[in-house]
Amino acid sequence: MSKQRASVLLIYTGGTIGMKEDPSDGTLKPFDFGSLMEEVPELRKFGIDIDSCTFDPLIDSSDIEPGMWRKLAGILRDKYDDYDGFVVLHGTDTMAYSASALSFMLENLGKPVIFTGSQLPVGRPRTDGKENLISSVEIAAAREPDGSPTVPEVCIFFNDILLRGNRSTKVDASGFDAFRSPNLPPLAEAGIDIRYNRDLIRRPSGEPFTVHTEMDTAVSILKVHPGITERVVEDILLGRRTRAIILETFGCGNAPSQDWFLDIVRESASRGKVLFNVTQCPRGSVNMDLYATGRALKDAGVVGGGDITTESALAKLFFLMGKSDDNEYVKANLGESLRGEMSK
Ligand code: ASP
Repeated sequence: MSKQRASVLLIYTGGTIGMKEDPSDGTLKPFDFGSLMEEVPELRKFGIDIDSCTFDPLIDSSDIEPGMWRKLAGILRDKYDDYDGFVVLHGTDTMAYSASALSFMLENLGKPVIFTGSQLPVGRPRTDGKENLISSVEIAAAREPDGSPTVPEVCIFFNDILLRGNRSTKVDASGFDAFRSPNLPPLAEAGIDIRYNRDLIRRPSGEPFTVHTEMDTAVSILKVHPGITERVVEDILLGRRTRAIILETFGCGNAPSQDWFLDIVRESASRGKVLFNVTQCPRGSVNMDLYATGRALKDAGVVGGGDITTESALAKLFFLMGKSDDNEYVKANLGESLRGEMSK
């Protein structure tokens, strides 16, 4: 039997949603969470028990780094049994990175973890923050008739759509409709009701919830482009401190076919580095069997990223490299969908 009232923990990390103008220089600076609750009194009328906790210091999400993901994962681990769901208020700039990272860190998640934020501070007229926050709380508290959570996944809710976190990307620097998951339809859409796309929502495996906090960040990203030079490719692919490189390639996974480029890729692979091929196109998938230029990368030992986002590819590498020092283990798991981050 489910409890009468659902309970949700709001975790406020910072970001525009809770920012306020500093009169001295006109820039936006974070203010304390108590004020946020005052700004959204609707939250108290929900029939949901809502508690909150706040990062100290609050951060602009451009300053997010894995230590903060660990902190967030630690809060979720410690409070996991006490709440039906969780809402993470986070800056929009790196929200897709954080939601991706948490999706890997939280294994066998059985409760909703909904990231949201806003483009306009909650205290401003026309803010998008109130709607985003209120709907996120409703989604975090939503349960099926049997009492199980409706969306036991790490998600982003923004401007009326609920997206799988590790499929999401920020697509608009200033518009309210700021997030998309180009390769997966929304898990829910909010109109008069919130309509869930239940066929797409992942169900918990039933295995124990496990939080992973080890991460290895020795990853570089090389975005290929016409005119890229040998020197630049060498620096990134053969960098001494880099264990893995995301190759952001053209179209379905293609890169320059000049000998010098492929020689460096082969040299990097032969030094044991992990090379992960992710397309620059927002929609569609890497297929290294389609063109000779892609096939050459595959033959050199590059792992195909399918339709994974760059944000998710980075988080997946941090996570897998944190789990093992063995790059062969990392390569073997990279091409598999671990948390629904790639289409099969
Ligand atoms: N710079 C802010 C942040 O990402 C922007 C936002 O919240 O929308 O923290």
